[in-house]
Amino acid sequence: MTTATDTANTLAAQQASGSSAQPAAAARKAPLPDITDQPAGRAEKALVALFVAVPLMALVAAIPLAWGWGLDWRGAVIAVAFYYVSGLGISMGFHRYFTHSSFKAKTGFRIALAIAGSLAIEGPVLTWVADHRRHHKYSDREGDPHSPWRFGNDWGALTKGLIWAHVGWMFDGNKTSKQKFCPDLLADKKVSRISQLFPLWVAISLLGPALIGGLWSWSWQGALTAFFWASLVRIAFLHHITWSINSICHTFGKEDFEVRDKSRNVNWLAILSFGESWHNLHHADPTCARHGALKGQIDIAARLIWLAEKLGWVYDVRWPDASRLDAKKSTARQLGSMTRRAAVG
Ligand SMILES: [Zn+2]
Ligand SMILES: [Zn+2]
Repeated sequence: MTTATDTANTLAAQQASGSSAQPAAAARKAPLPDITDQPAGRAEKALVALFVAVPLMALVAAIPLAWGWGLDWRGAVIAVAFYYVSGLGISMGFHRYFTHSSFKAKTGFRIALAIAGSLAIEGPVLTWVADHRRHHKYSDREGDPHSPWRFGNDWGALTKGLIWAHVGWMFDGNKTSKQKFCPDLLADKKVSRISQLFPLWVAISLLGPALIGGLWSWSWQGALTAFFWASLVRIAFLHHITWSINSICHTFGKEDFEVRDKSRNVNWLAILSFGESWHNLHHADPTCARHGALKGQIDIAARLIWLAEKLGWVYDVRWPDASRLDAKKSTARQLGSMTRRAAVG
């Protein structure tokens, strides 16, 4: 006979198993709060607004400008180069390496990844990692910093939620606790220092292209066009691609793997996001180094991790594991290359 005590015991056991992933120390002490007690001030929010609005205006202006004047081939080369360095810094560095430890890296490469990701101007590495780990902990439930499902699931609520997940959440005063979500990186002197030096990386990201463009073409015109295209337009474009992972990839797309949240695989964003838009696999198996794990899914960041592994810059890479992923797979499509399969015989 099932009694109320049995039910209570089962519930207690479920709660205990849910919290068993927490470190032993956290169980002994009172858990740290998710949010710091110092909310972001007006000046900080104004800075975020500046970095959201100015590059976006440049992106909008770029479309008519591109027809007439302004984009020379040097500017285009510098823009693509900065897009790759900063975008891969986010995908390989901030996300797959610092947040999820999908691989281990030699010190020089670790530092390069932290600096490259900082050039994307998506916040200092420690802030980015803390927010993103909180996103995975709550993923489309209360406590997720940027779920598009926050306001409900009718069309009105979802439209509002998409705007929230894309940019709105950054203006929420609540700041994720770094002590709670990234104590490993706080304890790392080199990475903490790179995080504190964020204003320097912002300056380099904004002015570096102008300097290169000016010296390369030996003209003020070259400096100015490089600043417009390779700083402003490039930053805005990468921002909106990254933010689309939070908004679009938690709303539209395919559920190739079973997950408890709303993360989805979105193929048309795969190349521009360096493979980040295979977000459904990522939530199904967060530490996996290749997000586009199915055959034919292009994942540029995974290919470059593979190359870095061959060069000896990274090691202990967590490549897709067939025995784990096959159990979660809800499509007939096969897993692709780089997958570890159990040896036959
Ligand atoms: Zn993640
Ligand atoms: Zn997500």
